[in-house]
Amino acid sequence: MTETADVLDGGCTCREVRFRLLSKPLFVHCCHCRWCQRETGSAFVLNAMIETEYVDLLSGDVEVVDTPSNSGKGQRISRCPRCRIAVWSNYGGAGDLIRFVRVGTLDNPDALPPDVHIFTMSKQPWVILPPETPAFHEYYDAKTLWPADSLARREAYLAKLKRS
Ligand SMILES: [Zn+2]
Ligand SMILES: [Zn+2]
Repeated sequence: MTETADVLDGGCTCREVRFRLLSKPLFVHCCHCRWCQRETGSAFVLNAMIETEYVDLLSGDVEVVDTPSNSGKGQRISRCPRCRIAVWSNYGGAGDLIRFVRVGTLDNPDALPPDVHIFTMSKQPWVILPPETPAFHEYYDAKTLWPADSLARREAYLAKLKRS
């Protein structure tokens, strides 16, 4: 892939916050859990997992809101301080190394369809999943599903996490 094909821009609704993904994401989650349904006010959330170093803030700044999470470890949701749109989250486990970028905030959200559906146990019944995308009742094991280059990047950030 060329560099330009990799670059995806996004931002909030009022356009104060603008960001650029400098790499393709590690993996894209479509989460159907009740927590994500409540937080989006919708049927699921679409999150692109990517290392924080590959999320370039082009303009504005984000306000980080500590929010409870299903795991109990908490979630830090980054929002535009003006229009309050959520642009990404960090979850307890990986700290600030990994961002879960909300795919719907990209200028071209069609570029990142889900690689996996998770927590389908609470999927809203009218949502029909495509048979070719892996789907799990709850969570899954990255080692069995992620492509080799994403797993290599995962090794790198896990090593970093151990050192921190
Ligand atoms: Zn805004
Ligand atoms: Zn969820």
